[in-house]
Amino acid sequence: MKKIPVNITPPPIQVSSAGCDSANLLTGLLTLEQARAKILESITPITQSINVNIMESFGSVLAEDITSPINVPNYKNSAMDGYAVKAHDLPSTATKKFKLVGTSWAGKPYLGEIKENQCIRIMTGAKVPEGTDTVIMQEHISKEDDHIIISAGHKAEQNVRCAGEDIKQGDTVLKKGKLIKAAEMGLLASLGFPTVNVLRPLKVSFFSTGDELKGVGETLEDGQIYDSNRYTIFGMLQKLNVEINDMGVIPDDRKKIEVAFLNAADQSDVIITSGGVSVGDADYVKETLEKLGQINFWKLAIKPGKPLAFGKVKQAMFIGLPGNPVSVMATYYQLGLPAIQHLSGNQNYTQVIAKARVTEPFYKRPGRLDFQRAIFSYDEKGELVVKGVGMQASHILSGMSLANCFAIIPTESGTVHPGDVIDIQPFEGLI
Ligand code: AMP
Ligand code: MG
Repeated sequence: MKKIPVNITPPPIQVSSAGCDSANLLTGLLTLEQARAKILESITPITQSINVNIMESFGSVLAEDITSPINVPNYKNSAMDGYAVKAHDLPSTATKKFKLVGTSWAGKPYLGEIKENQCIRIMTGAKVPEGTDTVIMQEHISKEDDHIIISAGHKAEQNVRCAGEDIKQGDTVLKKGKLIKAAEMGLLASLGFPTVNVLRPLKVSFFSTGDELKGVGETLEDGQIYDSNRYTIFGMLQKLNVEINDMGVIPDDRKKIEVAFLNAADQSDVIITSGGVSVGDADYVKETLEKLGQINFWKLAIKPGKPLAFGKVKQAMFIGLPGNPVSVMATYYQLGLPAIQHLSGNQNYTQVIAKARVTEPFYKRPGRLDFQRAIFSYDEKGELVVKGVGMQASHILSGMSLANCFAIIPTESGTVHPGDVIDIQPFEGLI
């Protein structure tokens, strides 16, 4: 498997060297960086914690610093299968015989005495017996009855793991705000913790809006489409440790939209909708929200995903994604996901950016920051290359499925040509 060279600094939203503000001044559109900054500064991360079994902690955020109650490893142990000896018995020239007087097994240490020129058979992870300090690999000795023969050239204390080599008792091992994944689960277990205090999972409610939307399994009439956004949003949320509340499709009806928002606000930390945030005549989302909450309606200088609403309905954070299916995914990833991560208390959230050489043109007009759907791969030299998936319009959801990354084309850039190097955001594991 080839490794993707990654940039792991905090999510650098890529903008042209002409600067993000230029888009704002010229067009009245908000840049992605401006929108992201406004969103993040308006969020107060949650603080309520719960105690969970570490087996159930995957994807949670630590609510407290973790201090180690023990040394890890807890005792001096062998890194190899071999023979434990005293270093000062080792030969400085030629070879020397050692009498084998016992065995130290992992979990069953040798407790007897060890005299001069004696050795102990020792297994990987077994305690290095008192009086010995060096392990000779079993491949480096020869055997003769109840003796082993060791040649010169071994180093004192080789193949021995010291107590506290990984973690010392009293060390702060994990910091509050850290996302718990496989390594952290194992680390907590290695310290002996059966449970851990984590920030409670967020409750996320979502619904689609639009009279044209039909549910799957229903028959489409003229002018209708299936509601796909709710499934995409549900899929994206499943990557997160959140409680998901699917509220279905709400028709373009003032009263029903208001009831849906109030309902969602009462039972959730986050409300996500799709559609109805642009200026269509029958979209009542905007009107309702202006009445119910403090909502910003933005036109973003990004493509796809120009209209976006963000704010609060009662105490719940509201993210109003655009209606077009690709815009839903792009704006969720660029703005919704960082917002949810920040609210959840995750202090280390980053997005991976890699550089790739373009092999086919990406057509573009200057003015907005493009997230074109693209496929990265490796060329014959092992270098990362990228090409588009074909049609780039914001309703072409099949392109999102063909793609494995966003190709990020800077705001002021026009068409990008073969040979140019651009930033890409791989999807793998992210959305
Ligand atoms: P709107 O912002 O509501 O005007 O929607 C913009 C476009 O996205 C329209 O073509 C809608 O039909 C489409 N759209 C809105 N909601 C959905 C949805 N849940 N699933 C699929 N397409 C949608
Ligand atoms: Mg609509």
